[in-house]
Amino acid sequence: MSPFRRLPLYVWILLAMLFGVVFGVLVAGPRGTPFVVDWIKPFGTIFLNLLRMIAVPLVLFSLVAGVASLGDTRKLSRIGGKTIGLYLMTTAIAIALGLIVVNVVKWTGRFDLSEQTRDSLLAQFGAEAAQKVGAAESVDIGQQLVDIVPQNPFAALAQTQMLQIVFFALMLGIALMRLKRDRAQPVISLFQTLSDAVISMVQLIMKIAPIGVFALMASVVAELGKDPEQLADLLGALLWYMATVVLGLTLHLVLVYGTLLRVLAKVRLMPFLRAMAPAQLLAFSSSSSAATLPVTIECVEKKLGVNDEVSSFVLPLGATINMDGTGLYQGVAAVFIATIYGIDLTFAQQMAIVLTASLASIGTAAVPGVGIVMLTIVLNQINVPVEGIALILGVDRPLDMLRTVLNVSGDATVATSVAATEGLRTPPAAAGAKAAPS
Ligand code: ASP
Repeated sequence: MSPFRRLPLYVWILLAMLFGVVFGVLVAGPRGTPFVVDWIKPFGTIFLNLLRMIAVPLVLFSLVAGVASLGDTRKLSRIGGKTIGLYLMTTAIAIALGLIVVNVVKWTGRFDLSEQTRDSLLAQFGAEAAQKVGAAESVDIGQQLVDIVPQNPFAALAQTQMLQIVFFALMLGIALMRLKRDRAQPVISLFQTLSDAVISMVQLIMKIAPIGVFALMASVVAELGKDPEQLADLLGALLWYMATVVLGLTLHLVLVYGTLLRVLAKVRLMPFLRAMAPAQLLAFSSSSSAATLPVTIECVEKKLGVNDEVSSFVLPLGATINMDGTGLYQGVAAVFIATIYGIDLTFAQQMAIVLTASLASIGTAAVPGVGIVMLTIVLNQINVPVEGIALILGVDRPLDMLRTVLNVSGDATVATSVAATEGLRTPPAAAGAKAAPS
């Protein structure tokens, strides 16, 4: 066997990413970028569509099977309580951490954009920002709560309304649990088998992951770099803002997830990161936790040894509602935009950010670029001009890629921690023995 065949999947993905970046940088420009968009990007889109294709059935099948096979409502409420508690707690901590970091950086005077840069950013991205603000205007948190309950679950499935799908799947799972076991069992087994079949589709799809990831990275870089001078200006002006988001995300990963994993699951951060590498690399290149979900499940079960009773419930739920990276980013962005407008946010306003960004991150769809749309809700709440998102739109994509990595890592951390506290996790050595998908 050639040594290349033995390289783990994540190494292939990493190499593909590097090639994609180098290729994107080399060809980016007025002629190269359209070429990449027309001829290379479609391979990335096909790869993403393959993953998206299985995300909806996976959430439905695995949640129904996951809940129903818990067997009794006491176990469900215990695991459910722990999961939701940890999800809410980590999100609130992420936002608070983001706010601390952004306030420190602001205090050192690093956010001083000149008025000229500010106006040029507003002019340059104003139209796009107006579109996003328009999209957000239809979002009303009260209405969102009402909308969690689908009028027609089949319509919800067809329109990828993840929160509605989760709601329906949870209820169907609970209802199956309440039926007599011998009547419910065939249906539970059917959902279980379907969920296993979908996971096995992931293994097939991941065989072309390096090609897909190469295409995605090449097109992101080529599109960002189509006007290199403008990009350099933009990056220069917003460097501190970007660095603040990255610092916040890293601190949350190391401090909060590191501690949770250590204390609750007795797992160190490094082995955890190695196990999760395929999912994290995919999250980075796709900017979508929903598209990454099948691979997240695969890594958590096979590499971290989490029993599917836990993973099939905790992970689909997390991919839909738990977005620590998005919440943290929204906190940082809100303070940054306010600062540029010369608004000093009070402590009470910053507390309001923790609350609204928590809700906004729960309502954020797990697909690229929705975090910034939901940011407008946070800005509205604290009376900061929503058009301000124009200031940060130009650099949103790379930050979206990074916050998605944290979103996915957060789901995996909670799944591993809950499984460990329930005695539903096999030791890593045993889990490593049947390692996949690499
Ligand atoms: N792209 C993010 C995700 O899928 C959501 C966002 O913050 O835009 O997790």
